[in-house]
Amino acid sequence: MKRLHLLAAGLALTLTGCGEAPPPEGAGALALVGAQLIDATGGPPVADSVVVVRDGRIESAGARDATPVPEGAETVDLADKTIIPGLVNLHVHYREGPEEIERQFRSQLHYGVTTARSTGSDTPERVAYLLGAAGRSDAPRTYTAGMGFSYPGGFNAAGRNAPATEEEARALVRDQIALGVHFIKMWVNEVAEPGLKIPPEIRAAIIDEAVSNGAIPVAHIDDEADGRQLVEAGLRDFLHSTVLTFGPGAGVPVEDPDPSPAFIRMCLDNDVYFTPTLSIIQNRWHFAEHPELLDDPELRAAFEMYNPDALARLDDPASRAEIVDDPGFEDRKAAFRQLLDFVKTMHDAGVAVALGNDAGTPNVPFGWGMHHEMEMYVEAGLTPMDAIVAATATGAAQMPPVGAADYGTLEAGKAADLIVLNADPLADIRNTLDIDRVMRLGEWVDRSGFVPAP
Ligand SMILES: [Zn+2]
Repeated sequence: MKRLHLLAAGLALTLTGCGEAPPPEGAGALALVGAQLIDATGGPPVADSVVVVRDGRIESAGARDATPVPEGAETVDLADKTIIPGLVNLHVHYREGPEEIERQFRSQLHYGVTTARSTGSDTPERVAYLLGAAGRSDAPRTYTAGMGFSYPGGFNAAGRNAPATEEEARALVRDQIALGVHFIKMWVNEVAEPGLKIPPEIRAAIIDEAVSNGAIPVAHIDDEADGRQLVEAGLRDFLHSTVLTFGPGAGVPVEDPDPSPAFIRMCLDNDVYFTPTLSIIQNRWHFAEHPELLDDPELRAAFEMYNPDALARLDDPASRAEIVDDPGFEDRKAAFRQLLDFVKTMHDAGVAVALGNDAGTPNVPFGWGMHHEMEMYVEAGLTPMDAIVAATATGAAQMPPVGAADYGTLEAGKAADLIVLNADPLADIRNTLDIDRVMRLGEWVDRSGFVPAP
């Protein structure tokens, strides 16, 4: 309709030979009208809003009476809907090659995950592929840490960088940075035997080499002493927590799970933030305990698109029983509760807590998993609004250039990455899964055919 109108106007101009009549001010703009707006700036929701999108960006957003719809803009009536920013997942592991990555992209966008950080398992080929996807409206905005760092014989060392000396570490960091990575990831935790964790001086060399070459160091930890040493060495970006969750001794509640006041102070003084990554722990049993979740055809499709083997295992009652009948099951859940408490403690203390979920590991499907991670933040004691801010603005603020993201909130000038929901997530955080449509860089995401026809 709009196009016809413009065409007619152009024809009239040609016929009369007149000069340049300006197009209507709203030409090319799209106005989303009438939804509840959660802009993720931390302010209260706006009950009846207008969001104007043009050229992939938000031109204006706010209460309807204070946000005019430009004349001639295309409008979409979103009464009874809620708009939230696209989700920012700070902890994913893309798998396999281009064809598979495209399916993982599709799952992410289907579920409104418009930004993701790949943390430590990307080959040079995958790094190049992810960098090549920059600016695509049919792919999320991606960051990568290339291939991560461990220690010879240590956690995740196989196929990763495992320098034994500081010099070797510095050279390997430079190799990663030459590929164009944004982050340098290291695993600072133990696996089978003690003593195979990256030694402090090598960690410091990795951090120094990363920072002096413009990359951001990020570490997987599960111990406060390591956290302190890494902050002293200049690291600000932690995956997981200070509660033991991997390796020997994990899976039973620890004696003293709370971060110390001194460590919390250190985090606040140094702008340290955490991406606790609850899903990789809880999803080890969650679907076995709640197989009814697997009745959801979209979730099944998301599993099928990245790891059908995991779905087949979860569909098998015997393999589910193995998990829930395990004598250690209650202990694992109690240990997990300590991890939830860590999220709440850090959040309440004012330490920035972002969202990430280890999507791409066997039980954490791309896309769906971010919504489940938000649900767990609410279970931890955060409000739904806190969980949404953590999953959007907080994560965006940690991406390079730190503190200057042009996405993650819904404000004038930011990228038009957003999710339209059919139900109010402030009433029940699980309503973030009730998606009407998703926009990435001003374009509606094609969500059709995600669930294959039977
Ligand atoms: Zn990970």
